[in-house]
Amino acid sequence: MTERTMHIGLDDTDSTRKGCTTYVAALLVEKLLKIGAKFIDYPNLIRLNPNVPWKTRGNGALCLRIKYNKNDEEKIEETAIGTVEEHGDLESKGTDPGIVFFKKARIPVEVKIFAKKTITGIVTLKDALRLVKKFEAEAIGFKNGRGIIGGLAAVGETLQGDHTYEILAYRAPENYGLKRRVDEASIFEMDKVTAPHTFNNVDTERGRVIITPRGPDPILFGIRGETAEIVKNAFEMVKPLEPLERWVVFRTNQGTDAHLKRVEGLHQIKPHNPVIARGTVSTSPKMIPRRHVFFSIKDNSGQVECAAYEPTGALRKVAMKLVIGDYVEIYAGVRKPSGNIPLTLNLEKIRLLKLAPKIAYQNPICPECGKHLKSMGKNKGFRCDKCGSRYPEAEKIKVKLERDIRRGLYITSTRSQRHLTKPYIRYGMEKHHQTAERLIENWHFP
Ligand SMILES: [Zn+2]
Repeated sequence: MTERTMHIGLDDTDSTRKGCTTYVAALLVEKLLKIGAKFIDYPNLIRLNPNVPWKTRGNGALCLRIKYNKNDEEKIEETAIGTVEEHGDLESKGTDPGIVFFKKARIPVEVKIFAKKTITGIVTLKDALRLVKKFEAEAIGFKNGRGIIGGLAAVGETLQGDHTYEILAYRAPENYGLKRRVDEASIFEMDKVTAPHTFNNVDTERGRVIITPRGPDPILFGIRGETAEIVKNAFEMVKPLEPLERWVVFRTNQGTDAHLKRVEGLHQIKPHNPVIARGTVSTSPKMIPRRHVFFSIKDNSGQVECAAYEPTGALRKVAMKLVIGDYVEIYAGVRKPSGNIPLTLNLEKIRLLKLAPKIAYQNPICPECGKHLKSMGKNKGFRCDKCGSRYPEAEKIKVKLERDIRRGLYITSTRSQRHLTKPYIRYGMEKHHQTAERLIENWHFP
């Protein structure tokens, strides 16, 4: 028997009304194992640039990495294609699935670079197809075939830097669309026991569970954490109140800030390329209707508009407290200019590096009775209401106000964090390489 390696990339099989590409991957875990394939990694769940205009719902692509017997190759490929055909929402406009069969054991650097670009910026289908051809991979695109981009990106992101894990549990199909039933108390308890090694289980600001998605997709709940063991243990602490069809542990780039790329100057910011950038606050924050906060930052190279939208919660409150002169580092998606709206940074995080003094001008105090004087009009001096003294030469006095904000990192509220956003709790837990690990014994069911 000749043992071969294959990386199967999948993307864009789902729609807002049906399915989930992780579910197609979970089905394939069972089917490929039955054919005799051996998994050399957990299925990889790779979140792509959340800032592209045509993203799918969660913008997640999948890669299954297996060793298999050469004789089974055709059967494996047919199984993958058949599963996408059966479970992808092919009728839905904007769902354009892609499958990539990559049959080299090692992933070439060019494909790794392509993957990074797909996570941080914009790539084209042409770029993807060129690499598919160059490395003799096979790509199957349904409809416009855009899913091939994500499929190849998932193959190329081997998660050798920072990564996390997620265990996803799937519902029995007869319950799709019905309210999810999971014992909430068991989720809060699980969170207490496993934190800080799991993250984003609950929204502490509102005391709500956030591991159960909304909507018609097949996921009952998902638990994110630092190792396969911890998410598996956490999973066992949660009590589902409806049957589970299956569950799988995925290795992912979720919670790693992988989408954000640092720029040296504000002039380098490009639409749809999420950034980390530094600048000085140059206009006072304004709250506009619908409760979004806007302000600008500048550096030697330019000035750019920043927005903290209402759902960012805590972050919006921080943005409102900024004053001109504050030196900040912002983490943001980039919206392209449209109409009379300029290019805008949609904030995910703000790091407040230096606080400028907050200055206010107050009326002077009456030397006789210690009360604040009243102005007699512009440049006309002041008068004391109590004793009647007049001070025509007096001027307003400059006072330094206490800042009700501190230096430090501020992140959008848990409920509005993107899949890729690194939460507070993960700071200091970053992995800098992938240790050659053996998969835990039970990482999937069935
Ligand atoms: Zn007085």
